[in-house]
Amino acid sequence: MGTDELYPPDRLSAARRATAAAGLDALLLTPGSDLRYLTGYDAHAGERLTCLVLPAEGEPTLIVPRLERPAAEAAPNTGVRIVDHPDGTDPYPLVVAALDGPPAAVGLTDRMWAEQVLALRAALPGAAQRLAGEVLRELRIRKSPAEVAALAEAGAAIGEVHLRMGEWLRPGRTEVEVAADIAAAIRAAGHVSVDFVIVAAGPNGASPHHGTSGRPIGAGEPVVVDIGGTMASGYRSDCTRTYVAGGPAPADFPDYYAVLCDAQRAAVAAVRPGITGAQADAAAREPIAAAGYGPAFLHRTGHGIGLDGHEEPYLVAGNDRPLEAGMAFSIEPGIYLSGRHGARIEDIVVCTTDGVQRLNTTPTELIAL
Ligand code: ZN
Ligand code: ZN
Ligand code: ZN
Repeated sequence: MGTDELYPPDRLSAARRATAAAGLDALLLTPGSDLRYLTGYDAHAGERLTCLVLPAEGEPTLIVPRLERPAAEAAPNTGVRIVDHPDGTDPYPLVVAALDGPPAAVGLTDRMWAEQVLALRAALPGAAQRLAGEVLRELRIRKSPAEVAALAEAGAAIGEVHLRMGEWLRPGRTEVEVAADIAAAIRAAGHVSVDFVIVAAGPNGASPHHGTSGRPIGAGEPVVVDIGGTMASGYRSDCTRTYVAGGPAPADFPDYYAVLCDAQRAAVAAVRPGITGAQADAAAREPIAAAGYGPAFLHRTGHGIGLDGHEEPYLVAGNDRPLEAGMAFSIEPGIYLSGRHGARIEDIVVCTTDGVQRLNTTPTELIAL
């Protein structure tokens, strides 16, 4: 997969047209997924200003710290004018200079640091500040075939790690010890960074975002393992499986795990263009509620994924936007019984023109090690 396919050069002009249509004079994009989406540049986020100034009319300018000019020039698709600033100088006048007169409204990348938001407000005192997401969300929400391929590559890589779990997950080892082995395997499978490793055994499994702890894993305890990383492409993996190691699961576990497994499958099967994010959420929630575990499924069913780990679309009550071909998101219902244990099953899927493609393909049944 060439970088031109993954980061096609025409995105800047598409973003410029959308910026004009939204009534913004320019987008101001500091390091993060928006900048990478438009240019392929995986810029370092730091206290020194890196900012793509993308006027609705006129040429874009990439402002970078002088020491990062070589990295910016090496990026796949930064065929834009680069202006650098040496340490000890104020870079914000360069933003003003990159604009054709004072703007009335600018769109700031959604996750910009507050110190840059305020410095840009001071440098452009007449400009209303809005979110660049108003413009870029629509471009990013449907993945191109090259992006789907990059997400599939990430899904295959994280699947390899799950398939190796028996090498590490054993009673008596702590969650932290197991997580360290998993993190090394996430890198070995081709990720350039490890984004998160949740190893939640026994009662810790009832906390969806537990992380890890120094508690040893008990024989037969259900263990929720939710892991993900970023590939060199910039695209991310995120996959949860639930395991039992070294003994049979507690008597009260298999019943609700079976409910969860059916619910997750039903929600995946429900995905097709035209159903809304709320309907996809309900497809996972209804069987769990019918079995009496409704309140124990205490989060939304899924989140979009791409250059960010969590992005649009969200599968959640109230999201009445229909799914469309190319949208990629997680389907990850969970059941969490406080003080006892929990379970979650998570696959990344892509909505296709007539249904769904799973990007995580390892078995979702309870895995006994
Ligand atoms: Zn989560
Ligand atoms: Zn996850
Ligand atoms: Zn997730």
